[in-house]
Amino acid sequence: MFYSEPRITILARPAFTEPAHLPVHWMGESTDGERLAEFAGRLCYMSQKNPASRATREYLENIKRQRHGSVLEHASYSLLLEGVSRALSHELVRHRTASYSQLSQRYVDESEANFVVPPAILGDAALEASWRAEMERAQASYVGLVAELMTRYAWVTDRVHRRKMAREAARGVLPNSTETKVVVTANARAWRTMLELRAGEGADLEIRRLAIAILRALQAEAPGFFSDFEIYIAEDRREAARSEHHKV
Ligand SMILES: Cc1cc2nc3c(=O)[nH]c(=O)nc-3n(C[C@H](O)[C@H](O)[C@H](O)COP(=O)(O)OP(=O)(O)OC[C@H]3O[C@@H](n4cnc5c(N)ncnc54)[C@H](O)[C@@H]3O)c2cc1C
Repeated sequence: MFYSEPRITILARPAFTEPAHLPVHWMGESTDGERLAEFAGRLCYMSQKNPASRATREYLENIKRQRHGSVLEHASYSLLLEGVSRALSHELVRHRTASYSQLSQRYVDESEANFVVPPAILGDAALEASWRAEMERAQASYVGLVAELMTRYAWVTDRVHRRKMAREAARGVLPNSTETKVVVTANARAWRTMLELRAGEGADLEIRRLAIAILRALQAEAPGFFSDFEIYIAEDRREAARSEHHKV
């Protein structure tokens, strides 16, 4: 299978329980994650009565304006990312304030691995065909190597260990475009940093496309944290995003 876009699933979001002894005068629409952050912010000044009559999303906008980003750290979101390449995941995991669990190429058989078409190649039939041929050649080479290594290490009695030895060596011939799956958990502040860097025009096209898709998902999920990001068409005719609140 060849992926031409990532697949994103929100796996987990905050569940806020308001303490009965510290009720907040909530205003406007909000989600649990946004309320959790507002509750944490208001605790600092014991302003639960909401003297400025701010709706939750206005309150969070002000938090971003004032650069009180630590308040956003209370709300975490876990995303399942599929249809992304190993090249992309290598860049993604550089964001150190998130937690990752990624498909292991040592344990999982990649004989039927999927591949992610690089965005710049998509839509050009000739380029796609020659790229696909390379993917298929690499996969065939992987399958052959695993079989030969299983024979070479037949004396290793633990079959699981032998398979791991074969797969970890054979994966060396798999390309950067091999599909991977990752679960990422990060708080709203960390997601914002990742989105600012990776949805920007300087980012690699595949991670930029992913960042835009994550941004759309998180904007729908919790607008109070992400609605200030603007998606636009850049000079290279691709989508990019920016926010006026740099590194909140
Ligand atoms: C367009 C682009 C090109 C890139 N090219 C390269 C490249 O060629 N080679 C390469 O190696 N990397 C490259 N990177 C990766 C880049 O250097 C960063 O590692 C990556 O973007 C993570 O960003 P970050 O370090 O700001 O923040 P994150 O790891 O996402 O952390 C968020 C913030 O937390 C704080 N923080 C986190 N860890 C620490 C710490 N240990 N000490 C102090 N503060 C910390 C910082 O304020 C940081 O900005 C590139 C990134 C982009 C966006």
